[in-house]
Amino acid sequence: MASEDTNTDFIRQRVARDVADGVHPHPVTRFPPEPNGYLHIGHAKAITLDFGVAAEYPGGVCHLRFDDTNPAAEETEYVEAIQDDIRWLGFDWGDNRFFASDYFPQLYEYACELIRRDGAFVCDLSSEEIFARRGTLTEPGIPSPYRDRSVEENLDLFERMRAGEFEPGERVLRAKIDMASPVLPLRDPPLYRIVKASHHRTGDTWCVYPLYDFAHCLSDAIEGITHSLCTLEFTDRRRLYDWILDTLETPCHPQQIEFARLNFTHTVLSKRGLKRLVEEGHVRGWDDPRMPTMAGVRRRGYPPGALVELCRQVGVQKRDSVIQLAQLEAAVRSELNETAPRAMGVLDPLKVVIENYPEGQTEELDAVNNPQDPGQGVRKVPFSREIYIERDDFREDAPKKFFRLAPGREVRLRYAYFVTCTEVIKDADGRVTELRCSYDPATRGGDAPDGRKVKGTLHWVSAPHAVEAEVRLYETLFTTEDPHDAPEGQDFLANLNPKALEVRRAVLEPSLAAARPGDRFQFERLGYFCADPDGTPKAPVFNRTVTLRDSWAKVAKRS
Ligand code: ATP
Ligand code: MG
Repeated sequence: MASEDTNTDFIRQRVARDVADGVHPHPVTRFPPEPNGYLHIGHAKAITLDFGVAAEYPGGVCHLRFDDTNPAAEETEYVEAIQDDIRWLGFDWGDNRFFASDYFPQLYEYACELIRRDGAFVCDLSSEEIFARRGTLTEPGIPSPYRDRSVEENLDLFERMRAGEFEPGERVLRAKIDMASPVLPLRDPPLYRIVKASHHRTGDTWCVYPLYDFAHCLSDAIEGITHSLCTLEFTDRRRLYDWILDTLETPCHPQQIEFARLNFTHTVLSKRGLKRLVEEGHVRGWDDPRMPTMAGVRRRGYPPGALVELCRQVGVQKRDSVIQLAQLEAAVRSELNETAPRAMGVLDPLKVVIENYPEGQTEELDAVNNPQDPGQGVRKVPFSREIYIERDDFREDAPKKFFRLAPGREVRLRYAYFVTCTEVIKDADGRVTELRCSYDPATRGGDAPDGRKVKGTLHWVSAPHAVEAEVRLYETLFTTEDPHDAPEGQDFLANLNPKALEVRRAVLEPSLAAARPGDRFQFERLGYFCADPDGTPKAPVFNRTVTLRDSWAKVAKRS
């Protein structure tokens, strides 16, 4: 994936020009989430752009504005969650937190003013009738029979809409623009509708609510936004944005600029889709680590810097594209490789008894916390006669290129000793239940003084010291790159990955019992893991954030 220098994208160029030309002393941007769900990882692009551009100029500011114009879908829970997520990503709105609902009185006044300027009328058609008369790209729409109502009649009807005299759907306020416009959003779009539902902030004060197209441009103008950055689906609606601000006298006229959404393979990024996953119980909640929400990836262990870095790599484009989820995972791996301390855990334990190791003895061996960062120091890991290794790390009928443990073969136990498998113990069904090994005391620390080499190094956990833990392994939430590419008559849910979550009973080195929720580690040879809030010191729970690249899986695939 080509990476773009974020200093040169077309939006930053435009802002730089406006500042250089003295059009604005500095940019004022806004991030305008609708509090009707949790933020998803696509929002990271809008957040890094809106807050990022502002931060590049002295005096530049970015407002957080909740676009809370639809009382039916919005909740305070979402307001809190959205704020947490933005802060987690590393951005701050300072004192500049606003709600579109704060402007309801002003927006209502603007609507009356638009009526007085003959720019809006009350229409009695149903939304189905309005839609049916909208026309197509090649045919003009049919004007509403209510289009020519007098200003007085419109003001009276709009006032009565607001007073609650009519039921939802009975009447709407529409802009009076041009039913033959080649730009569909200009064909007398609805601006205000009746909704009889309690609003999370204004309660039952209002029963008419502005639609996005009316509320957004005016909120931008009220706040003195200079550059109103939004995604490409709003391109056609820029004409309406400009028409409303040109027709009314507003404090300023912000410039709307559109950019491409961030999309990823193997997941969905629409709040509606994500809400269905939560409400229909396909996941445990908005912060389920399988979810592409910020809360989900945070719980899974993604560091916020990896999302910011991904956004930098992708840059800002004018055309939509789909990014491989693997590119985000690579950014996660790359950051965690530098920062995450190493530890040892075994996900599928197989007992090994080291027969020539003294019974009852424990040694504390030195283990390097992070070879990428010597500053992270060294910890002690207990070693004893009985240990666990990964069941996958042993094969009775090992092929040549399998460099791990097999009968008669010698391998290194990380930070410990060389061991050789001397006996394989099985149950009645022929399943291997235990291995017997011998160790070479001269190889303490993992090197043979005689210079003898081994090809494999295994991770392990001392059995009497092991902490039992639940480890949750994740795969992509959907099996297909494009979840919406579903069989005839089915929707994206048909592509849900039944193996997206797998729970293991694992054993971990004792230091991991002290991990606190959110702490991240590399479990050597297995991947990056993050302590989950479901865990306790006695019964820790870890989420696998992302795997390491597995060199054996590659060899196995090739042969
Ligand atoms: P969705 O379509 O997922 O429900 P939305 O656009 O309704 O999202 P909002 O809360 O209205 O969500 O979005 C807030 C801002 O985030 C908007 O400016 C929107 O353009 C931007 N945004 C939403 N999704 C993406 C995305 N995938 N990539 C970049 N920006 C996005
Ligand atoms: Mg939206």
